[in-house]
Amino acid sequence: MKNTKLINRRNFLKLGMKASGGALALSAIPIQLLADDEVTVDEPLAQAMGYVTDATTVDTAKFPKRAGEAGASQFCNNCALYAGKVDDEIAPCSIFQNRPVRGLGWCNAWVAKS
Ligand code: SF4
Repeated sequence: MKNTKLINRRNFLKLGMKASGGALALSAIPIQLLADDEVTVDEPLAQAMGYVTDATTVDTAKFPKRAGEAGASQFCNNCALYAGKVDDEIAPCSIFQNRPVRGLGWCNAWVAKS
C-alpha cells in the first residue's frame, strides 16, 4: 500500500512537472503570435488602405492625402488609431483589428491625434 502511495505521489509530481512545462510552452505562444501578427503590405486590407511600412514611399498620386507639406508629416505614430507612443517602432492599429503596424508607416485611414 505504501509503495502505491509513493508511486502515486511520484506520478503526481511528474504530471505536475509536465503540466507546468506545458503551461510555460502555452504562455510563450501568444508572444510568438504577436511578433508574427504584424500587418504586411501585401494583405488585401493593407493594399486597399494603401498601407506601407515606410510612409515616405507612399504614391501620392494614388493617395493625395499624403501629398504636400501637411501630408508629409503623417505617420502611423502620430495617427489617432495607433495605440502606441510616438517613439514606438511598432504598435497595434484599430483599423487592422489591433494588429501591429510600423510607427513610420502610413495608410489612407490616417487621422490626426487630437
Ligand atoms: S490607421 Fe493610422 S495607425 Fe493604422 S495603419 Fe493607417 S495610418 Fe497607420
